[in-house]
Amino acid sequence: MYKRIAVIMAIISAVLVNCACVEQEENISWVTLKDIARSLENQPPMNVGFDIDDTVLFSSPGYYYGRQKYSPGNKAFTIMEEFWNEMNNGLDKFSIPKECARKLIELHKKRGDSIYFITARTKTKTESVTELLVKTFKLENPQKVIFTGFSLGENLKIKPIKENKIKIFYGDADSDIEAALEAGIRAIRIMRAVNSTNKSMPQNGSFGEEVLVNSEY
Ligand SMILES: [Mg+2]
Repeated sequence: MYKRIAVIMAIISAVLVNCACVEQEENISWVTLKDIARSLENQPPMNVGFDIDDTVLFSSPGYYYGRQKYSPGNKAFTIMEEFWNEMNNGLDKFSIPKECARKLIELHKKRGDSIYFITARTKTKTESVTELLVKTFKLENPQKVIFTGFSLGENLKIKPIKENKIKIFYGDADSDIEAALEAGIRAIRIMRAVNSTNKSMPQNGSFGEEVLVNSEY
């Protein structure tokens, strides 16, 4: 008897948990590549912006390496000049371009849009990230990557978004979506891969922004 009740309870709770997830997912404004293309029909060429890490590149390998080398077990490497020099000057050879980014960039290239990359990576004297992105995504007339650095309490991406008159900004982090919304432009969320070394996972759709389907890879 008790066993049967336990089984029934287990089934009910499983159903409830499932419903909660479905409800959460249903509240998200999912968009496909086609939806984005359609929404831009009849619109003249514009400037669009992309975050880099976990948006256009799965760059965790470089960050994983940097952490082992400079500060095993903690995040101190992210404030070390030596790490950023390495990261911005070659470690992206281990970064895997995201398929969703390839497709998005193709869409925008076809429309004649200008593509900007804005990253919170620390700026270094030299960098090879621009060159790598140009090669990877076959960009013509490329803009140099904008390195904003990171500041607690201030979103440093708002300014370059405004200055470059960017109309759509794609990013995986809550701070990317926040920057776009603060700048008064359209924000589209790219999902961070679950095996990214950048934990804790962002809250996709939490700002009511559009979220690109299948954008984890
Ligand atoms: Mg990112």
